[in-house]
Amino acid sequence: PALFPALTEASADPDGPGAHRPALRFGDRSLTYRELAAAAAPLAERVTGAGRIAVWATPTLETAVSVVAALLAGVPAVPLNPKSGESELGHIVSDSAPSLVLAAPGDRLPAALGGLERVDVAVDVRAAGSSRATTDHAITDHAPEAPALIVYTSGTTGPPKGAVIPRRAVATTLDALADAWQWTGDDVLVHGLPLFHVHGLILGILGPLRRGGSVRHLGRFETAGVARELSEGATMLFGVPTMYHRIAEALPDDPALAKALARARLLVSGSAALPVHDHERIAAATGRRVIERYGMTETLMNTSVRADGEPRAGTVGVPLPGVELRLTEEDGVTAVEAYDGESVGEIQVRGPNLFTEYLNRPDATAEAFTEDGWFRTGDMAVRDPDGYVRIVGRKATDLIKSGGYKIGAGEIENALLEHPGVREAAVTGEPDADLGERIVAWIVPAAPQSPPSAEELAGHVARRLAPHKRPRAVRYLDSLPRNDMGKIMKRALPHD
Ligand code: ATP
Ligand code: MG
Repeated sequence: PALFPALTEASADPDGPGAHRPALRFGDRSLTYRELAAAAAPLAERVTGAGRIAVWATPTLETAVSVVAALLAGVPAVPLNPKSGESELGHIVSDSAPSLVLAAPGDRLPAALGGLERVDVAVDVRAAGSSRATTDHAITDHAPEAPALIVYTSGTTGPPKGAVIPRRAVATTLDALADAWQWTGDDVLVHGLPLFHVHGLILGILGPLRRGGSVRHLGRFETAGVARELSEGATMLFGVPTMYHRIAEALPDDPALAKALARARLLVSGSAALPVHDHERIAAATGRRVIERYGMTETLMNTSVRADGEPRAGTVGVPLPGVELRLTEEDGVTAVEAYDGESVGEIQVRGPNLFTEYLNRPDATAEAFTEDGWFRTGDMAVRDPDGYVRIVGRKATDLIKSGGYKIGAGEIENALLEHPGVREAAVTGEPDADLGERIVAWIVPAAPQSPPSAEELAGHVARRLAPHKRPRAVRYLDSLPRNDMGKIMKRALPHD
């Protein structure tokens, strides 16, 4: 079965009914399905036989065409983050050993890529729209287990690892989301994310193409662009929590934005926890609840709420069709009791959505799986009585063991963010002689001249949650360290 049936069809029958439908739009440059086939097929032919190819993944039409071409050619693509430093790029290039790098004409490539043969991806939008769109390059298919992409993890907890993602995982994850979200070829997605991770690339670009639908990329995320696209016929928005935070902040002064969001079919957030405060503010201003989904590079997508279901703040819904999920500790213990009386356990997942291995890391791969094939996500969660998964946080950094309790950093962060004097918050645990670990709050104050005091914040948390969850120390920062997806990098907090 074809990965992109609409593209195969447009290539075989360039005057057929679907061939002129819009596929991709970046700013004022766009391609229909037949134009995309015409642009990608010769490039696919050019890269056929290359072992692996790197893609200089700027948020452009060229990147989307490059990745589609690699998939058509059956050559694994390694998307590179153009904002990475030389040393990270050097690591990824030597680890993945691509033979070529695809880039848009005029892109300046850093020295770390100097050893690679460069192929310029020329997408001539107007020429592609002409009769040249007929292509005699056949679109073939490849084995489901063949690697489609090598995507490096975000590097939140350590150096990025290259996850080898087979075609089967791409297809099943996109189909599971289509099932859950009733995502069809009539949907038009608004997208403002970078294209070198699963969220922006596999969900945001390959997702619409698999359905025969279309995507409008904003280039750079802006609330004005979101309002414009949603009021001009777009039906869904994919974003990360920092984007929804900006939307929540803008809504009180922007009735057009509220109106545009209210008419969207789906608002989806992922890649990190959406603060409850932002979820509730958006719901109050628009009448719409953002759907949170949970996933990761290694497993693609795991959970979400169905389009006709009820999103609940602070939860990521239920396992997607085909995904098995359990909360467990090893050695027959199903979960650890003692998280406010609930069972908290590591999320483990199994299913056709999983990656095959970490490139060149057989030990890390072996450690990541149980004997019977469950992937250890490293994320901890509890389940609401009706099965909704509530993520507590990462086992390594977000579960604080203090005074005999297991405490999740996330709920304290959510409580702190409800304080009007707090703009951003991160919570960590630090060694403490009495408590084992003590709770530390890292705060970006809303007004730097008059930050809320440590006593004030401790009292605020103690009233909302419980006294033992109050921060014992508060540290004030100008901003939190975040990566390109807006994720808080707790390991980069200035520990003393
Ligand atoms: P690395 O593995 O290199 O440390 P990373 O885990 O941040 O980086 P990704 O694969 O991009 O790399 O991110 C997956 C992680 O993001 C998940 O394991 C989880 O911790 C977090 N995450 C994703 N979606 C959500 C969500 N909706 N709520 C809370 N956390 C989420
Ligand atoms: Mg990870």
